[in-house]
Amino acid sequence: MQNFLKVPPPPELCYNYPMENTKRYIGKDCPQGHGGERYKSNWRCVRCCQIKKQAAKKAKREANPKKRGRPINPDKKPPTREILREREKRYWSKNQAKRRAKKAKYRAAKIDRMPAWLTENDKWMIKEAHDLAILRTELFGFPWEVDHIIPLRGETVSGLHVPWNLQVIPMIDNRKKGNSV
Ligand SMILES: [Zn+2]
Repeated sequence: MQNFLKVPPPPELCYNYPMENTKRYIGKDCPQGHGGERYKSNWRCVRCCQIKKQAAKKAKREANPKKRGRPINPDKKPPTREILREREKRYWSKNQAKRRAKKAKYRAAKIDRMPAWLTENDKWMIKEAHDLAILRTELFGFPWEVDHIIPLRGETVSGLHVPWNLQVIPMIDNRKKGNSV
């Protein structure tokens, strides 16, 4: 059978030979609707062969699942709510300054005290201020925070959310100060 199929296809089965230097030719359209691309060696539809090959590969893979990739652990359960919460906590404790800067930005933006002309450098400096607050909190053992020297919502004047209006002070002092300059 195989030998018989090795014989080149008869011309009436081949509409043309656009692929001179390949193992393929354009022949009779495949009944499965894959077009007329066929192998010169066995006249078979290229797409049909690919599908068959893929199916065989899949069957082989399913027959011995242990041989590839990480072994599947059937006992593994999806993470519980506690685990997810723990992961999130870990993420934010690693990115504390980022979170603090984000919150401050949001607060400033809400009352429109963050100028649009801030550069990337300025934004980086704001994040640095929040980093410093965390560092001091750890060093001193009591909470520090980033404060606006001129409050964003002052009674007489309103400051901007810009690096040169920031200072890192103990939280207790900041709360005492309130919104007065
Ligand atoms: Zn086909």
